Amino acid sequence: MGFLQGKKDAMITIKDRYAVLGQPIQHSKSPRIHQLFAAQTGQLLTYEAREVSAEQFITMVTAFFMEEGRGLNCTVPLKELAWRYADENTERANLSKAVNTLTLREDGAIVGDNTDGCGLVADLMVNHGIKLAGSRILILGAGGASRGIIAPLFEQAPQSLVIANRTIDKAVNLATEFGDKGNVTGCGFAALAHQHYDLILNATSASLSDQLPPLPDGLIAEQGICYDLAYGNQPTPFVRWGLAHGAVKSLDGLGMLVEQAAEAFFIWRGVRPDTQAVIELLNAERSASC
Ligand code: NDP
Repeated sequence: MGFLQGKKDAMITIKDRYAVLGQPIQHSKSPRIHQLFAAQTGQLLTYEAREVSAEQFITMVTAFFMEEGRGLNCTVPLKELAWRYADENTERANLSKAVNTLTLREDGAIVGDNTDGCGLVADLMVNHGIKLAGSRILILGAGGASRGIIAPLFEQAPQSLVIANRTIDKAVNLATEFGDKGNVTGCGFAALAHQHYDLILNATSASLSDQLPPLPDGLIAEQGICYDLAYGNQPTPFVRWGLAHGAVKSLDGLGMLVEQAAEAFFIWRGVRPDTQAVIELLNAERSASC
């Protein structure tokens, strides 16, 4: 009896459960990325995508953790709700007032973190060899993503940071909020005329609707680089704009997506996956799909 029970137990493989919540979510590459990380590192886990509206958020998250789910990623439009939901938040989550990673801690507390900023910085510096120290950086957009990347960018000692947004007040307020981190100003797009930047980050959601913020010509400095936080199977309008206006590199946010996922995976599993291999695979898959 004891022997048989032991054998039966050994045959049951319990996999820890993770998921990404958002709306819309069907396009999400996160399940694929986390499954690749799990296979690569030999971790036993499941990771699924669930369509969850802001109204459903609290009920769904509470049920997930009650049923012993271990961790969640949250994306549009849930990041601020996740920040409010967590029992505790990390310092970087509190600075961004947005959470993309929720973790069930051993003592039952739900801890919120934001891995978007370090994901972006890792992609820029490690994957693309872009120097941020001393650079003039322009961030387009003043939403949740911008809020999450400002402090991690300042940790790399850029010369200056300008935030430009369609709703000017939001850019000005964000700059004021982060004023103690370094040289940062906020403005509208029209005020960018005659300025030059070494790095232009598109953190608007304009690319998602195939649009481009109204940008003046001559914005990209010599050897300047453009980077769209959005990504797609085809180059985004901003990536195309960068190439057409003389950027030496014009990149999209697929690498950031993989890097922020790797940081979440590390928080949950204590293991760092090889992001380069996953980025190469996803890039090959999207080239094949074009
Ligand atoms: P939010 O909804 O919080 O903010 C959207 C921002 O885009 C606002 O500043 C808004 O301006 C601006 N905007 C929207 N449409 C236009 C337009 N047509 N022209 C000019 N400005 C516009 O979104 P998030 O900050 O959460 O996300 C922004 C982008 O970052 C998205 O594309 C998202 O996919 C991407 N992202 C990528 C990640 C990755 O891992 N690669 C991680 C996180 C985000 P206004 O204030 O005037 O409304």
